[in-house]
Amino acid sequence: MKKMKIAIDGPAGAGKSTVAKQVAQALSFLYIDTGAMYRALTYAAIKHHVSPDDEASLKSLLDSIEIKLVDEQAKTRVYVNNTDVTDQVRTDEVTKSVSLVSSHGQVRKEMVRQQRLLAEDTNCVLDGRDIGTYVLPNAELKFFLTATVEERARRRYEENIQKGFKQSLEQLIKDIARRDEFDSNRSFAPLRKAEDAIEIDTTSLSISEVTQTIIGYVKERV
Ligand code: C5P
Repeated sequence: MKKMKIAIDGPAGAGKSTVAKQVAQALSFLYIDTGAMYRALTYAAIKHHVSPDDEASLKSLLDSIEIKLVDEQAKTRVYVNNTDVTDQVRTDEVTKSVSLVSSHGQVRKEMVRQQRLLAEDTNCVLDGRDIGTYVLPNAELKFFLTATVEERARRRYEENIQKGFKQSLEQLIKDIARRDEFDSNRSFAPLRKAEDAIEIDTTSLSISEVTQTIIGYVKERV
């Protein structure tokens, strides 16, 4: 039977990864967090003192490391060369550089090659910025999650508090808006809603409402 691929795209903090993970779990599909792959490379670049501007060196670094995502019950663990960097890839330092690192064509081409390979011949849910438009243009179902920047920053603020660190809401709004702007305006596979994607405004929805909405579409399809 043909495998089903689900693409979930949208700006930072729209709830993509939590929703994608829950949808994948409910359907027993593989979940692939493509943002975590760009974060893993960014983490390695910081560690190896490679500048986020330096496309050729980033590509060589990417060729020399192995990025692995291991789908666990509660979350996806991220490995670089078998070292668990799950928490390290979420630091502010990585978040600040990841958009620049991921804007380079050579980096994206290799990442997309790896992502397509991971998605080959499996039922899977991928979340990111360019899944529906570029990585899997033939995905059976595509979703584009949005929410106001204030709401997305508020969610990140709550998440951070739970993790034990505090960053002002105003700063988070600025950081998220900056990242969206950068991701939307890069020349290679920018953040964009695919024409055939279903847009879900999550501003006033809970995570489980969004998950249920997506599962509803999947059930309609099968
Ligand atoms: O989804 P997450 O916020 O972890 O992604 C981190 C960054 O990685 C994004 O801001 C974006 O710059 C980049 N990214 C991308 N394409 C994807 C996934 C993430 O450019 N498919």
